[in-house]
Amino acid sequence: MRKIAVLGSTGSIGRQTLDECERHPDLFQVTALTANSSAELLFEQIRKFRPEIACLTGGMPESIPEDLAFCRFYPADQLENVAADCDADDLMVAVVGVAGLRATLAGRRAGKRILLANKETLVAGGHLVMDACRDVDGQPTLIPVDSEHSAIWQCLQAAGPNRPKKILLTASGGPFRTWSKEAIENADCAQALRHPTWNMGSKITVDSASMFNKALEIIEAKWLFNVEPEQIKVLVHPQSIVHSMIAFEDGAVLAQLGVPDMRVPILYAMTYPERVWSGVPAPDFAALSSLTFEAPDPERFPALRLAYQALSMGGAACAVLNAANEVAAQAFLSDRIRMGQVYRVVAGTLDRIGAPEADSLEAILEADRLARITANEFLKQVET
Ligand code: NAD
Ligand code: MG
Repeated sequence: MRKIAVLGSTGSIGRQTLDECERHPDLFQVTALTANSSAELLFEQIRKFRPEIACLTGGMPESIPEDLAFCRFYPADQLENVAADCDADDLMVAVVGVAGLRATLAGRRAGKRILLANKETLVAGGHLVMDACRDVDGQPTLIPVDSEHSAIWQCLQAAGPNRPKKILLTASGGPFRTWSKEAIENADCAQALRHPTWNMGSKITVDSASMFNKALEIIEAKWLFNVEPEQIKVLVHPQSIVHSMIAFEDGAVLAQLGVPDMRVPILYAMTYPERVWSGVPAPDFAALSSLTFEAPDPERFPALRLAYQALSMGGAACAVLNAANEVAAQAFLSDRIRMGQVYRVVAGTLDRIGAPEADSLEAILEADRLARITANEFLKQVET
């Protein structure tokens, strides 16, 4: 029986994590839950899973239902303290945005194994997180949950001592894969939220449409697998069956496949190194008409180039890119800007702020703060 704490339990990843806990009550005990503002859903989850600790990070409601008196509520803004104090073996970090960085580091400092869905944490603070998450007694202390990175991680286990020459990061291409550059530039939020293969939270769905999700994942892969940016290639694969691949020196390639359902990588992180039933059957290959691959188009999806640019700039440039994208994605979700302007806000912010120093958590969070101010200035300029 492993004890698990779920940060961001009311979100897409958080709810699926709890589904797996419910499927396997003999394997998992939930000891802490947090949400930002979905109080009613959090209360329901607390009733069902009976954690010792909970937190509504965005602010507490006026009263807590009496039947939840068994659960200790932390004050708002205390995600980090929940991560540190909870009695858990594993910390599922499923919050959205850089808000997960402090909590991830605090949880790790307190000895928890990190199951990381929250890619923004690695993008902003990759070197700090990887320093904090070195193997202990040959065992990993950080397990990726993002489907592509889980796939690569599984391939690397199969690779044994062989290092990959290339990482082939697959991308569905999102809802605008076949759209013209002009149509993508003018696309609005309702169009971006119609993702063809994955059902996810709103921010990552917007990121998938702009391809900033894949830009963030390039940076995430660089940190997780300690490879050079040139070794990471994005490959558009609209069916989302091949979750990613690694290629070796001799020309051989390993891939990990499955239907597009996050419960598989979520549960694998939770049960590693074992595998148990996730509720998701293997793909029915005979029923799949085809698996296709294409190169991403840098003209229509310029976000990918910005990931390589930020990586080569070093310092806190990736934290700047991430913060500007969080601001732009939020503005896009509120219908303040069109898709083309998302890119312009991020590119403009990265150009103006560059690569501030990144040698401490405080320095990274300061770069994040400055980038948000600058991104908001760009937003005012480009707003429709
Ligand atoms: P979501 O928006 O559905 O859920 C986010 C959760 O975090 C909610 O519980 C919310 O209450 C909480 N939250 C929001 N803002 C917060 C803040 N400032 N502080 C603390 N908690 C906050 O998001 P999601 O789709 O579940 O994604 C979560 C993370 O996992 C993201 O980083 C995303 O990129 C990553 N991810 C998601 C998927 C997916 O399929 N949804 C796949 C791969 C990676
Ligand atoms: Mg992914």
